[in-house]
Amino acid sequence: MEETPRCVECSKCMECGKKLENDEIAIYKRMVNRGATSYLCIPCLSRFFKVDEAKVWEKVQHFRRQGCTLFQAESPRDGL
Ligand SMILES: [Zn+2]
Repeated sequence: MEETPRCVECSKCMECGKKLENDEIAIYKRMVNRGATSYLCIPCLSRFFKVDEAKVWEKVQHFRRQGCTLFQAESPRDGL
């Protein structure tokens, strides 16, 4: 049996087990804990903070515009 991989690409949401996007890991680090090693996906994170999922995505955009290196330059999902 393989141990749970540590690499960022293989990270899963600790709540629902969904495979995480880089952005979801990055926003978790920004909003919860920079040193975190396990994360929540954005739907679970928004529930955690009791805010709208769109608000979390707004923050993702906000940090990205600030040039935060945790976030990729371009998002794979262009919902906005
Ligand atoms: Zn989740």
